[in-house]
Amino acid sequence: MNKKITIAIDGYSSTGKSTVAKELAKALEYIYVDSGAMYRAVTLYAMQNDFVGSSFFNDESLINKLNEIQLHFQLNAKTANADMYLNGENVEKEIRTLEVSNLVSKVSANSDVRKKLVAIQKEMGKNKGVVMDGRDIGTVVFKDAELKIFMNASADTRAERRYKELTDKGENVSYEEILKNVVERDQMDTSRKDSPLVKASDAIEIDNSNLTRKEQFDKILSLVKDKLN
Ligand code: C5P
Repeated sequence: MNKKITIAIDGYSSTGKSTVAKELAKALEYIYVDSGAMYRAVTLYAMQNDFVGSSFFNDESLINKLNEIQLHFQLNAKTANADMYLNGENVEKEIRTLEVSNLVSKVSANSDVRKKLVAIQKEMGKNKGVVMDGRDIGTVVFKDAELKIFMNASADTRAERRYKELTDKGENVSYEEILKNVVERDQMDTSRKDSPLVKASDAIEIDNSNLTRKEQFDKILSLVKDKLN
C-alpha cells in the first residue's frame, strides 16, 4: 500500500521553506502548496485596488470584495512549478516583489482573509500526499499532520538568501531594506492575534543556518521515511 502523509513546514521568513518543500514534493510525488503565495496574491489585489499602502489598510473594503478574489495554482511547464493565478491572471512574478513583501503581513493579520485562505488550503490537502509551507500549517491548517517541521535560521543568513534571490531576478534592492523587511515581517507574523507564527508543540525544529541545501533535504527526507515506516 502506498501510504500518504501530510507534511507541514512552518517557519520565519526566508528560511528556505519553499525550496525544501518543493524538493520533497517532487521526490515523494506529492502536491506542493505555497500558502504564502496566496496571502501575497490577496495583498496584490488589495494594492491594485488601493485598499492597502505603506501608511493605510482599508480592511473593510477588502473584506467586502473577498468573494471576488479567485485564486488557483497552475503548473508552469517551463519551470515545472505551480504558478499563482489571481482572477485568471498569472501573478507569480508580481507577488514576489519587495513592495508586496512589505505589505503582506498587514493583510495576512486579517481574520476574514485567513478564514478564506485556510478553507481553500484545507480542501487542497484533504486527500493527504501534500507538502504545504507557511506560518500556521502545523498549528491551524493541518493540526493532524503526520510530520511538522519548524524552520529557522539567523536573520542575517535569511536576508542574504532573499537579497540574492531578488537581485538574481533583476530587482533593484539593498541588503539593508531586505533585512529590515525580514525582521519586521517576523515581528508582525509572530505577534498577530489570529494564528500567530509559533512552533507547534509536536513540530521538529531545524536551524539551517549551517546546513547545505542537500543536508537539509536529506535530514527531512529521513524524517519522512521514519513516518512512512
Ligand atoms: O512564505 P512567504 O514569505 O511568501 O509568506 C508571505 C507572508 O504571508 C508571511 O510573511 C505572512 O504574513 C503570510 N503568511 C501567513 N500564513 C501562512 C503563509 C504566509 O500569514 N500560512
